[in-house]
Amino acid sequence: MAKMSKKDVSELHEVFTHNMTMFPALFGKLADQLGVSVASLHAVDVGIYPVDELGNCAWTFPERDDEGNVIGLSKRLMDGAKYMVKGSERGLTYAVNHEQQQSAPYEKREWARVSVDKPCRICSKSDGCMYPEGEYDNPNAVVCVHVSEGSDRPLSDNAPGYLHIIDKQRAPRTGTNSPLLPSPHPVLIVEGASDVCTAFDLGFVAVGQAYGPRWRYSVDRALWWA
Ligand SMILES: [Zn+2]
Repeated sequence: MAKMSKKDVSELHEVFTHNMTMFPALFGKLADQLGVSVASLHAVDVGIYPVDELGNCAWTFPERDDEGNVIGLSKRLMDGAKYMVKGSERGLTYAVNHEQQQSAPYEKREWARVSVDKPCRICSKSDGCMYPEGEYDNPNAVVCVHVSEGSDRPLSDNAPGYLHIIDKQRAPRTGTNSPLLPSPHPVLIVEGASDVCTAFDLGFVAVGQAYGPRWRYSVDRALWWA
C-alpha cells in the first residue's frame, strides 16, 4: 500500500477524533478497558475508526514526529490487537502541548526576500527565496522556493518553499516551543499509548516509542529540547 501523505494522515486523525466527540461515552468505555482516566485519553487524542478496511471497529492513537505532527495512526481493536493504519508511519506517542505546538522560532521571525545583491545560498537565484531578516550572512535556516533536495521539510502547507536548516545547533526549540507538556519530572520513555496514559494519570509526561526494525523519529531526537 502506498505511503499516505502527512496531510492525509492528519485529516484521517481529525475524522477519528471527531467521531469520539460525537459519542463522548466512548471515552469512558475505553478508560474502563485500559484502566486509565478519560482525561488521559483526551490528552493523547484518541479516536475511533468505526469500520476499518477489514470490517473491524478500532480505537486509534496518533503517532507523531518530533514536532507534534501526526504521521501515523495505530489501531487497537476491541480485542486488544494492535495494527497501524495502512500507509501511515510509526512515530512517537505523547500528549501534545497544543498551546505550544506553534511554529518553530525560525518560522515566527520576519523573512526577507533574496535579491540580486543577496542571492539564495541554496539555489543562487535572486527571486522568491527567503532568509531571516538581518541574518543574510549567517542564517540558521533559509527558505528556498526552487530546491527541495536536502531540505528539512516544506515551510508549511500553505506557503511555498522548502525550509533548509543550516545550523541545527541554533535551530532546536527551547522549552517553550516543545510539543511536550511541561513537567517538573524527567520525561518517561514507555512503549504504547496506554503506558503514556498511565504515566499521565500519575503526573508524568511520557513518550511512547513502539519497538520495531527502524524508527524515523527516535526518542533521543524528540527529547533534544528536554
Ligand atoms: Zn533558492
